[in-house]
Parts: sequence; structure tokens; C-alpha cells
Amino acid sequence: MAKRFSIIVIPESSNRVKRLQVSSGIIKSAVCGGVIVSALFAFFTYSYFSYSVDHNELQRLRVVTSQQRQTLHGLVADLDEVQQQMYSLQETEARVMQLAKLENVPKEIPIAIGGIAEVSSSLEVDSVQRQINKLQVEIELRRQSQEGVRNLLNDQVSLHRATPKGWPTKGWVTSYFGMRESPFTGKRVMHEGLDIAANIGTPVFATADGVVARVKYSAGYGKMIIIDHGYGYRTIFGHNSKIVAKAGHRVKRGDLIAKVGNTGKSTGSHLHYELQLNGVPIDPRKTL
Ligand SMILES: [Zn+2]
Repeated sequence: MAKRFSIIVIPESSNRVKRLQVSSGIIKSAVCGGVIVSALFAFFTYSYFSYSVDHNELQRLRVVTSQQRQTLHGLVADLDEVQQQMYSLQETEARVMQLAKLENVPKEIPIAIGGIAEVSSSLEVDSVQRQINKLQVEIELRRQSQEGVRNLLNDQVSLHRATPKGWPTKGWVTSYFGMRESPFTGKRVMHEGLDIAANIGTPVFATADGVVARVKYSAGYGKMIIIDHGYGYRTIFGHNSKIVAKAGHRVKRGDLIAKVGNTGKSTGSHLHYELQLNGVPIDPRKTL
């Protein structure tokens, strides 16, 4: 037989005692019910608070995402702008190459790489990252290309400075480059330079940048000076009264190097100006 319990209730207003008899099964059911209700209450309370926290977090994340999207939009616009600038840089570079007549050289260097159009429609971070990588490669190519252009221009400037140009002294030509009758023997011989008549002491200038290769006295050319300009060019100045530049020194176009004279085998005061390319005398008249 199941255990039974008595609950005694004593009201304050009367002396009658009420007695309730309860079986242990009912008590167990009541306790179980209480536990279940408490657990459910605890669960719903927890769920409610955790939903409320999640909701707030969701709101916050939405705001963050929206801000990030705006930032990404801005970045894509910036990238587009950079790409446009890159194109204009490329155009300028092409024009510079054309002006410098360097079309043949930069062909080795690829100029254009892809576009940015596809990024505008797809706002994905990795797409932007890809564009950035592309731009970095492009910038590096531009840098290399421009370094090449600069080197080539430097070479051209050096060549220009080393190429003899202009009159070495103020005077008038008395004998041109080519075959002529020797004023001494009367025989036809090759005259390998230009004779420019001028008064003794008239300044003689270097016609290009270079290094004074030799200063010497020769029976034929008298006091002479030889300048090596590199690129195969040499200039020779003969019959001077005085040599001003020193052997081994660098000279620039227009520097005073000697003074006109009548030394060596000469019939009057003049400068013998000779121009050689790779050891072969060429007509200096074309360079005056
Ligand atoms: Zn001569």
C-alpha cells in the first residue's frame, strides 16, 4: 500500500483543524511538475535574453556591413581613378618615346594590362585585391619602362654631347676636306681635315665633350691636340701657337683648348681641324 501523508491546516479564526490526506504519488507529481515548470521558465527566460542580445548584435553588424560596403564602393572608385591615371601616364610615356624616337626599345616592355571595368559591378573584396595586385604589377612595369626611357635618353644626351658640332674657331675656310694639290709638293694628296684661316692667338674651342687624349708637337701639324669624345669620335687640331688644355683632362663643348698659330708644316696662320670616326677621317663641314 502507498504511503500517505497528512497536511494539517489550522485556520486562525476557528479552532477547527482541517486535515488533508495526500498520497506520496501526488507529492512526487507535484515536485516533478514544479521542476518542469521552473526549467521551462528558465529556458524561455534565457532564450528571450539571448534573442535580445543576438538581435542587437545583428543590428550592429548590419550597420558595420553597410559602412564596409560604402568603404568598398569608395575603394573601387579610387581604383578606377588610379587606373585612369595609369592609362594617361602610359599615353604620356608613349608620346615621350615617340618624341625621343625610341619606339623600337620599349616594345620589350608590355605597356597595358587589363582593365578595371569588371570590379565596378562586383563589389567583392578579393576582386578589389586582385585589381590592387594588377596595379602593383603595372606600376612596376611603368617604373621599369621609364627607367629604360631615362637610360636611353641619357645615352642620347651623352651621344649628342660627344658628337662634334659647330666651328672650332672664328675664321674662313681656305682648304676643304678631300683630294687637293699639296702646297708643298704640288702633288695631289688627300687633305684629311678643314683648314680655317684665323689670326695667331684666335681662340680654338672643343666642338664636343671629351677627354684630351694627346698634346704633342709633330713636324707636320706642329703644336697639336687630340680629343677623344667616345662613341668612336676624335677631333684633331693642328698648327696651334699654344695648347691650353692639358692631356688627360675632360673638356666640354665650347671650352678653350688652344690658340691658332702657324706651327709645323704651314703656309700661314690657320687651324687644321680634323674629325675622325672610328679612326677614319670624315668631312667636318657637315658638322659645322
Ligand atoms: Zn689642313
